[in-house]
Parts: sequence; C-alpha cells; structure tokens
Amino acid sequence: MTEVTVTLPDGSTRSVPAGTSVRDVAAAIAPRLAKDALAATVDDRPVDLTFRLDQDARLRLVLPDSPEALALYRHSAAHLLAAAVTNLFPGTQCGIGPATEDGFFYDFVVERPFVPEDLERIEQKMRELSASNLPYERQMWPRAEALEFFASRGEPLKVQLIEEKTEGQSVVSCYTIRDRDLFVDFCTGPHVPSTGRLKAFKLLSTSNAYWKGDARNQPMQRVYGTAFLSEADLKAHLTRLEEARKRDHRRLGRELGLFIFHPWAPGAALWLDKGTTLYHLLAQYMRDVLFPAGYVEIKTPLIFNKALWETSGHWQHYRDNMFIIESEHEQMGMKAMNCPGHMLVFASEVRSYRDLPLRLHEQTPLHRNEASGVLSGLTRVRQFAQDDAHCFIREDQIAEEVERLLRLVQRVYGDFGLDYSVKLSTRPQEFLGEVATWTHAEAQLKAALEAAGQPYTLAEGEGAFYGPKIDFDINDALGRKWQCATIQLDYQLPERFDLKYIGADNAEHRPIVVHRAILGSFERFIAMLIENTAGALPLWLAPVQVMVLPIADRHAAYAKAVGETLGTAGLRVAVDDRQEKIGFKIREAQLQKVPYMLVTGDREVAEGTVAVRSRSAGDLGPRSVGDFVAAALEEVRTKGLSR
Ligand SMILES: [Zn+2]
Ligand SMILES: [Zn+2]
Repeated sequence: MTEVTVTLPDGSTRSVPAGTSVRDVAAAIAPRLAKDALAATVDDRPVDLTFRLDQDARLRLVLPDSPEALALYRHSAAHLLAAAVTNLFPGTQCGIGPATEDGFFYDFVVERPFVPEDLERIEQKMRELSASNLPYERQMWPRAEALEFFASRGEPLKVQLIEEKTEGQSVVSCYTIRDRDLFVDFCTGPHVPSTGRLKAFKLLSTSNAYWKGDARNQPMQRVYGTAFLSEADLKAHLTRLEEARKRDHRRLGRELGLFIFHPWAPGAALWLDKGTTLYHLLAQYMRDVLFPAGYVEIKTPLIFNKALWETSGHWQHYRDNMFIIESEHEQMGMKAMNCPGHMLVFASEVRSYRDLPLRLHEQTPLHRNEASGVLSGLTRVRQFAQDDAHCFIREDQIAEEVERLLRLVQRVYGDFGLDYSVKLSTRPQEFLGEVATWTHAEAQLKAALEAAGQPYTLAEGEGAFYGPKIDFDINDALGRKWQCATIQLDYQLPERFDLKYIGADNAEHRPIVVHRAILGSFERFIAMLIENTAGALPLWLAPVQVMVLPIADRHAAYAKAVGETLGTAGLRVAVDDRQEKIGFKIREAQLQKVPYMLVTGDREVAEGTVAVRSRSAGDLGPRSVGDFVAAALEEVRTKGLSR
C-alpha cells in the first residue's frame, strides 16, 4: 500500500497509508485530538475530518482555540437550524446560512412568518438533532443530479446558487444531515463532524430579509441565533445581550422623552424637547472646542444642482444613496455630505499660502437614502448632522494639522470620559494618485500619531481610494465598539474642483483637504452616549439637571422659588408640584435619570435649605441652596471628571 507523508504545524512528519482520514491521523497522534478537532486544513484548504489524504500534504487541525473554530461552529449551527426548520415546516425554502460576528442566521421563504413559539419549537428540534449526534456527511453529486434534486424539492433558490457558483464544474459539494428526514444543503463546507458537537446555541429573533439582500427580490424571513464553543461563553453573551437590550437607545430615547420615530419619516428622528436640549448642548460644546482651535463655522445649502455632484463624483458613484429632486426641469440632489459645498467656499476667493490651514466647520443636516430595511434607531438613519469640518492645508502642513486634530480628539473624548482605540488605514489595492504621494502622506500621519503620543494599530490597504485615513473606535461599557471620529486625507476633491492657492513662490499650488469629524454624527454619538451610560447622562449633558420635589402643596411656593434661583444660576431645572406622594415623585425622577433631586418640606422651608438626593449616591442630606448651586455649577464646569 502506498504511504503519504503528512507534515504537521510543528514541522514533524508522519507516514500514513494513502486514503487515511484526517480524523484517523489525529487519533494516531492523540485520541484526545480526534475528539476535540472540529475540522482541519490540508495545504491551507479547509476540509472536514472525514477528508482522506491521498498525497503528501501539510495538515493542521482546527481545534476549539483555532482562529476559525467559532465561525465554523456557528455555520454548522446554521445548517442544524435549517435541518430543524425543514423537518418541522416541510416545504420551507432555504436560502443561505452564514456565520456572523456574533452568531449565525439562516434565510427562509416561509408560508407564514415564524412567531416566538415557532422559534422555541425549532430550537427544541435542533436540540433533538444534536442529541442524536448525526454526522454532517459530505457527498459529491453530479451537477445535473444536484440541480434536478433541488428543483424537484421546490428549492429554486438553491438551484440558482448552484448554477451561479458551480458553473463549469461536473460535481457539486452537498452536505446531508440524515434523521428520519434527509436534509441536504448545497455547501462547500467544512463543518463540525456531527450534530452532537453543537451544544451551546440559542435562537434569538427573526427579521425580514430579501433574497441576496435586494428588496427587489423575493421576501424571506431571517432567523438569528448565536452559538459558542462553551456554555459559559454563551451565557456571558446572553447576559451581555440582555444588558444591551436594557440600554437600547431606541427604547430609552422614548422613555426619557428624548426622541421618537414615526413610520412617515423613516430613518429621521423627531427630537422632543429634552432630546433637542441634548443635541444643542453637543453642538454648542463642539463650537466651544473648535472656535479657539482656529475653525470658522459656515452653512451651505441642503440642496444643490446635480452639476455639483457631477464635479465631486458623487453623481457617478453615490447617486443611489442620494435623494434626488427636480425643480424647473433641473435635477437637484440633497446633500449627503458637506465636502463638495466646502470646495465651492474655498474656491470663492483667491487664497494665499498664508491663509492655510483654512478650517471650515458645518453642522447642517445631511440626507442619505439608505434602504428602509437597514435603518435602525439613531445608528442607521436617513437624516443626520455631523460635527463636520474640512481643513484645507499645504503639503508641508499634514503632520502638524493631523497632530492638532489628534489632540482635539483626545481632549473631546476625555471630556466625555470615553475610552477609544485608533487605526491608521493605508493605501488600498485600488487607489487614485501617485504612490509617492501616498507614501509621503502615510509617513506624515505616522509622525503625527507618534508626536501626539497616540497608540494605534495599522490597517494595511484599508484606506479610502482618495487618501489614507485615521479612524477612532469608542469602546463602550459593554465592550462594544462604535466608530465615531475619522480623519481622512483627500487629494482628489481639490483636483476635481481645481482648487488652488498662491504659494510663497507666487505660483499656484493645489491644497490638500482633511475631512474630519470628532463626534461623528450627532445622532450616532447620542445613541452611543445613551447606551454607554444606560441613559444616566452626566450632569453637564442631562436635559433636566435638577428636579425640585415639594413634599406637600404648602411647600410648592418655596420649591418654585428654589427652582427660579437655580434656573437663574444657569442650571436646567424642573419642579414636580403634582399632588403625588414624595416617594412616587422621587422614583419617577430617578427613572427619568435626573442627576439631582431636591426635596423640600417643612424643615427645608423653615431653614432655607434643600434635602439633596443624587441619582447615583442617594441621600446626601441638607444643603443651603447657595452651596448646592455652587457645587452643581462646578460639576458642570469640570464635566464631572474631577470627582
Ligand atoms: Zn455549510
Ligand atoms: Zn468631507
């Protein structure tokens, strides 16, 4: 019998008879390995444990701690889900079932949408199939036979997939899970060896979906689940999900009276009074930060003739994401970004090298025509505004300007007490401009990051096609990342708009544009703030900072006077003089996450004091009104970070 040589990752080799399965090789090394392995790679190609070695090869087992193990496990769970669904609901058509960043999903064409009770039944069936420990068996079917099989089973979507993905092949890879019913899926694999390997999984929700994610295609229902390699990991994830649900900004936004949504304005919030207060606080905060840093604020139109968008290139590359309207037979586009308008402002005057950097800041609304299916709360919207700015600079100013920007980001995120990480993305495969220009720009960005003492990771090849960029991810209280700030160098827009400045040499030069936002969009930043704080905004951002609570009617006049004193001092204050029990009023103010509650009763009226309650620390005892005001204003001034 011929032998083949298997080379293991540590460089050692083994001789085994040709045709030996990967699993048997693992068992020969150690029985434990055969038991733990989920799959393998042979010469870097992912394969199942049943794969037979018929020539010399490098072999690496996929073990639970291997980088690809979790995705493979989750994708296998998606197959299990589809097997359970087709078992319980014969005639259901299957779409695709990939692993995702935190679980898996499978899309189905269903006769009626699944309800929560269905999910319970499906999950139960998955557990039964897992208990039966059925193998994921790979079968290579003649292509024509596979096409006929799926057609006869009423699965035109699978037929379409096979036609698209296996053109020119004679056989196609199918996987079966054989119970009383036979489940067959078209898939290249690999998968875990058997259903018994899948234990720590849970179905979570359903949503509407479309075949291939395109709303013009067949509507489908997506079933979401999650799976982990250990029960402990699954449990921790479910706890995190529950915590995230409690912090969901869409829910808190309504409960705290910040904003609502209406089906007649998809992707655009209706900001209520408290939310508007918060929005304006952030907007004014950014102005307070930016004006001393050399920025000027401008306002450009929300609607521009398509000529602008043709010049900027958005008409050619971004039109599908824009709202297009017509006026007097002219096509107009609602602005999806401020940059092109800012180019016009730069070009409106003769600029000298001494005028640079020119820093234009703008906060007006932007509109992007996102598909309604992807809209979500304040994080995926159609209307939003940014703390946007474009800095027009000279080539020799890149490092200094970016360093200033990095320090601004450090300061702003510091004021919000936010932890963040930084990523530098460099020249992608497809790029515009000269390699030398890119290399020079990247070197300056690195120099700026180092000068600002900013730790960062490098994302090679992930820059925008028009220039390298620095992205900032905020890490929230639940360990989630929110991409907010960005700094992007752009050589292309100045080119397209033929921007120039007069240099010291009296010749014309092309400026560089830095696109940058620090909060990102106000909408997204507010969503992050709400979820990060569970709605308990710090004093300086709380729409209502202080609630004065008279105990009885006879204390109402004093409470109002206290409220007026606080209001005059510049605090945002409300008086709850409803005829409710004081305990009830405290609970409500607490639920509204008001930072301070001032209880006023007989004693406070007699002594001219207030009994202070803090949202987080509870009863703080009596204070004179003057002392409370001074302490509160100091907390606002220092943004609560001094404590
Ligand atoms: Zn598969
Ligand atoms: Zn821009």
